[in-house]
Amino acid sequence: MSATTKVLIADDDASSRLLLQKVLERWGYQVVAVVDGQEAWKVLTQDEAPALAILDWMMPGLDGVEVCRRLRALGLDDPPYVILLTSRADKQDLATALEAGADDYILKPFDRDELRARLLVGKRFVELNRNLLEAKTALERLAVTDPLTGVLNRRGILAGLEEELSRAEREGRALSVGLLDIDHFKRINDLHGHVVGDIVLRVVVERVQAALRSYDSLGRFGGEEFLIVLPGLPAERIFPVLERIRTRVGQTPVSVEAQQVAVTVSIGGAIYRGGTVDALIQAADEALYRAKAQGRNQTVVAGVAVEPQSVAV
Ligand code: GH3
Ligand code: MG
Ligand code: MG
Repeated sequence: MSATTKVLIADDDASSRLLLQKVLERWGYQVVAVVDGQEAWKVLTQDEAPALAILDWMMPGLDGVEVCRRLRALGLDDPPYVILLTSRADKQDLATALEAGADDYILKPFDRDELRARLLVGKRFVELNRNLLEAKTALERLAVTDPLTGVLNRRGILAGLEEELSRAEREGRALSVGLLDIDHFKRINDLHGHVVGDIVLRVVVERVQAALRSYDSLGRFGGEEFLIVLPGLPAERIFPVLERIRTRVGQTPVSVEAQQVAVTVSIGGAIYRGGTVDALIQAADEALYRAKAQGRNQTVVAGVAVEPQSVAV
């Protein structure tokens, strides 16, 4: 936050309001001035609301304390810092104001040095809160991200699947999953080294992502195993969609420096028909097992029989 911090002033008394505005502008603040609590409430709850507010306690309609109370009730992550302006010096009144949610108060007529210092405290508070929020968001993202491939990790994709499953229940929407496992990945590591193996993992992820629709999601389920969540797909579309992903991944070898690394994947699919996330994943896992047992580089969807000629894509 720079010196152009926006400050809301709400005061029904014109001379006091104008004086405050002049002083704040001289200190480099961008001032939004309103004449009552209703207006203050409107400004503070709109987008790009000022981060700091100086509210007169006594105003017609909504008074300053009531605005504070309502703001607190919103439970915002990034609430404005509110300084209440009051001629009441009574301790009980001040306690009331702070309990209602004011962050600070200043007595009228205000002392300039004091106001300036208290605004700086407010700015510091808002900045600190914003930094904490940013750090929290970054940590939350990190907790559900696979560092190697950048897609969701197991925890992240499972949380997404839980959500999709509730939605499928609520809205009667179709839901299916695919478990994708790289074939003979151990050999790739053994033959080309772990570093190349890591690159292959990343490229496989890129290729799968390129084949997905925007509302599908992908997560790393284990070492070289990925879970794909496909909401809203009619049952008869599951097999061709998973097959398209499989062929896209395996179509061309991955080139790493001078090496061409052939890579294929097997996919097990399952369609949600009630039951738990665990049961759905287990069904996909069993289908994946069959795909592996039948020779790898193929797709098997649980409970869906596929005519041999339709396997070729
Ligand atoms: P299958 O076709 O039956 O799936 O055979 P596979 O060799 O792919 O399966 P297996 O489970 O025997 O081996 C998986 C290998 O994946 C072993 C493990 O070292 C490797 N792996 C797991 N995570 C990573 C990783 O992050 N980087 C690299 N380079 N290798 C990994
Ligand atoms: Mg494997
Ligand atoms: Mg595996």
